[in-house]
Parts: sequence; C-alpha cells; structure tokens
Amino acid sequence: MDNKFLISIKLPPGIGKVIKTFRQANWQIYIVGGAVRDSLLKRSSHDWDLTTDASPKDILQLFPKNSFYHNKFGTVTVNFKKQKLEITPFRRESKYRDFRHPSKIEWGKNLKDDLGRRDFTINAMALAPQATGRQFQLIDPYQGREDLRQKLIRAVGDPQKRFREDALRMMRAVRFSSQFGFLIEKETFSAIKKNAQLIKKIAAERIRDELWKILDSPFPAEGINFLRTSGLLHYIIPELEKGYGLAQAKHHIYDVWTHSLKALGNCPSSDPLVRFAALIHDIGKPYTVKGSGEQRTFYNHEVVGARIARKLAARLRLNKKDSQRLWRLVRWHQFTMDEHQSDKALRRFIRQVGKSNLQDILDIRTADRIGSGSRPTSWRFELFRKRLLDVQKQPFSLRDLKINGHDVMESLHLKPSPLVGKILEKLFQEIVADQKKNQRRYLLKQLPAIYRQIKGK
Ligand code: ATP
Ligand code: MG
Repeated sequence: MDNKFLISIKLPPGIGKVIKTFRQANWQIYIVGGAVRDSLLKRSSHDWDLTTDASPKDILQLFPKNSFYHNKFGTVTVNFKKQKLEITPFRRESKYRDFRHPSKIEWGKNLKDDLGRRDFTINAMALAPQATGRQFQLIDPYQGREDLRQKLIRAVGDPQKRFREDALRMMRAVRFSSQFGFLIEKETFSAIKKNAQLIKKIAAERIRDELWKILDSPFPAEGINFLRTSGLLHYIIPELEKGYGLAQAKHHIYDVWTHSLKALGNCPSSDPLVRFAALIHDIGKPYTVKGSGEQRTFYNHEVVGARIARKLAARLRLNKKDSQRLWRLVRWHQFTMDEHQSDKALRRFIRQVGKSNLQDILDIRTADRIGSGSRPTSWRFELFRKRLLDVQKQPFSLRDLKINGHDVMESLHLKPSPLVGKILEKLFQEIVADQKKNQRRYLLKQLPAIYRQIKGK
C-alpha cells in the first residue's frame, strides 16, 4: 500500500460530514467499491459504500438518530438528508459451500482483507480521506487503476476460485464489461468458460437483474455476445443460442443470431424489456425452419416465438405485466404495413398490441429493419405510423361496439330485420358518452330492456 496517488473528488452532501464524524472519533474510514471506480472514470455514482474498523455497534453509537442495522452482513445504513450511505465494517469471507453465499463471515482485520474479497480489481480500490478536506489517497493493492486504464475486467486473485465462491460474479463480469465498454481479461474470461455451468446455482431473479443491467447498458449487444462466447447463455437462454449460424433466405444478409444482436444494438428504445423483445423477436425461427437456400422459410415463427417468450418470462420471474408485454411484442412483431390496409385492420392491430405498446412495437420494427441491413424507415413505415395516430383520433362509431347484429339476434331470438339495427343504434346512443361501458357482458345484459323500450313505443 505504498501507492501515494492523491485525487480530489466532489462528494455528495452528507458523506463529508459522516467521514468527519468517524475521523473525529478516531476510527478508520474509507470510501470503497463502485464509487471509487466511478470517481476515477469521472462518472456519477448512485450509491456510496464506506468501510471502517468500527463495529456495527460503534457505528450505531456515532449516529444514534439516523442509522439502523438490519442484516447479518454487518452493514449499517446511515440516512443523511436524501442520501443513504452503507457502512460495512472490514470484512473477509471464507468457506463458500454452495457457490452463492459465504457460509461464514469473518471480520477482516484491515482494509487489505476487505478489498481482497471484492470481485474485480476495478471494484477493489479504496479512497482514504486526507486531513485537508477534499483530497483522498487512492489505495489500490490489486492495480485496479491500471485495469481501468487498459479497460479490463479482471478478477481479484485466482479467477477460478472466485467464481466458484460466487457464481453470480460471472454475470457481473459481463455486466461491467457492457456498462463500461471494457474487455474481460483473458484468464478471467477462460475461468468463466470453465465454470459457466455454476450459474445454474444462482437464483433466477439475480440473473435477471444482471441481464437487465446488460440490456440497459451502452453496449447491450456486445454484452449478450459475451454471454454466448463465455458459455453462460447456454444455461440462461439456450433457445437464443440456437439461432447461431442459422442462415436465412434471400434478402437476409445475416444469420438469425447476428440479426438478433444487430436488432438489439439498434433498438431505439431504452427500456430493457423492449430491448429484450428486440433481442428475442426471432427466437421461434430455429424451431420453425423449413427448407434451405432460397427456399428457406420460418412460417409461424412469431407464434412459436411468443410461446417461448412466455416460458422465458416465467423462467426469469418477470411480473405479469412485463410477461404480457413481452408476449405481445414478440407475437405481433411481424405486422404488415400496407397502404391498402383498411382502418378496421389497423384498429385490430392496435387492439392486439395494446395502445400503450404501440411505440415499442414500432421501435422493434426499426430495430428489425436496421438489423437486416435496411434503412431505419421507409415511406410505407411513415405512412403506417401516421395512420395509426389517425385511426385513434377517429370518433367512436357503431362498429366499435363490442357486440354486433348477430349477437343481438341470437340473444333476443330475433330474425334479421330493421329492428336489429334500431336496437344497436339505441345501445350505441346509451354508451357513446361513457365508453368504459363498452364491454360485451354489459352490453348483452342491456339488450332485453332496450328491446322492451323500442317495442313499447
Ligand atoms: P453499481 O454501479 O452497479 O452499483 P457497484 O460496483 O457499486 O456497481 P454493487 O453491487 O453496488 O456494485 O457492489 C458494491 C461493491 O461490493 C462492488 O464494487 C464490489 O467491490 C463489491 N461486491 C458486490 N458484489 C460482489 C460479489 N458478488 N462478490 C464480490 N464483491 C462484490
Ligand atoms: Mg453500487
């Protein structure tokens, strides 16, 4: 620890005060983890972690009004204005039994122990406050700053051992690489390849959270590509891997896998779920492929793909709303855009996709086009976009009623006659002011009364 690199950083309000309180009480205190890395990268940090030689009890005493201790890992949270600071006494972990959790936590004796249990060198640096206000000394026993400079994700210590301790670290490696545009160092990467199957031990929610961070990052396609080349994808979404090398016919210049990655990389939406839909929109293709060369087809791939999307959503524990959205985006991604389409066809499309998902499915079409080597848009696409808006502005009309003449005849046992039209018209007048009532069951229930009214006249 003879590195005397000093840096100046601007701390968010609150942290300076907390640091001062520790120092005045003669405890050691350091900023650690992501915030150190982000400060060196000149990026903003969303959470600030501190470590100390004080025990949780000591920390609670320092901040009696605004601190609480809630977990067995020793972390004390201090609330300071709107900031939430996590302060964890020096830790050292040992004896992992299940590839997930340390079976025992030992308090580390010093900062070096604490940094040594961290996952990657760029996350294993600390900042020590100096007597003069804003200055900090960088403590960097694993050469994290050099790896930041070289843009490398490198495990602290023996990568094999570290991934066997906690298999989620393999996903975190890929996630940091796509967040920062870094490569994964050679030995670290080959340790992921060797241990990829251990990812099966990790809870689906935790895998999904990392996957979502990859999708949310500036380099989502590169991240997903690393998931495949490292072997992790095989255990997370094997269905997607099947598109690798699967050639398509005629105007398709890319195989299904390359096309999917390019679609993801060019998806205009920043919503991870929409980006995920862009990635998997063709996931049904390997299951529906027929013929070869020019004759190759993938009929119904969107139907099969939507079924797979539903399974994936369950596997990744998406909530009901997201699962439904994902299904719709995959199921209808193949929509036609034809200037001769009727307004009715457009209204059906809007109902199928759902009004709130329209922009998303248009984004997926843009992604799909660019991912096939086409221009982002065309006059037909723009016309379709405009017509979608236009038909939504059209007033509510008789044919938008959720029941029709057949329903009236069947329900009231009537033969075709002008009376059927009168009944529909009356029903329409009744609900036009309150379109929430336009529900099949409600409308059918109103029919006898309306029939009596008309007959009574
Ligand atoms: P983010 O910007 O996503 O918050 P981060 O680096 O702060 O990135 P966190 O998950 O908040 O990541 O963890 C804080 C720090 O704790 C990390 O920088 C790392 O030092 C350590 N850490 C987190 N998870 C692990 C893990 N699974 N194994 C080892 N160290 C970890
Ligand atoms: Mg963090």
